[in-house]
Amino acid sequence: MLKHNFEGGTAVYEIDRGGHHDHMVDVDSGKIIEFESPEIEELQHQIAEKHGYILEEHSLVLYVRKKR
Ligand SMILES: [Zn+2]
Repeated sequence: MLKHNFEGGTAVYEIDRGGHHDHMVDVDSGKIIEFESPEIEELQHQIAEKHGYILEEHSLVLYVRKKR
């Protein structure tokens, strides 16, 4: 079970299904959208590496608003 803490104190629990994904939060409705981006995942490793670190864990949340 994974616990995600989002800004504003919202905690969301979800079953760890093995596949890694990150989240977007719709700031108007509070809806949580899952997404996967191999490019972003790879980039985070590269950034850590560039600073002399190995990436152990990360948490990435995009706060979004629906286009109108
Ligand atoms: Zn990720």
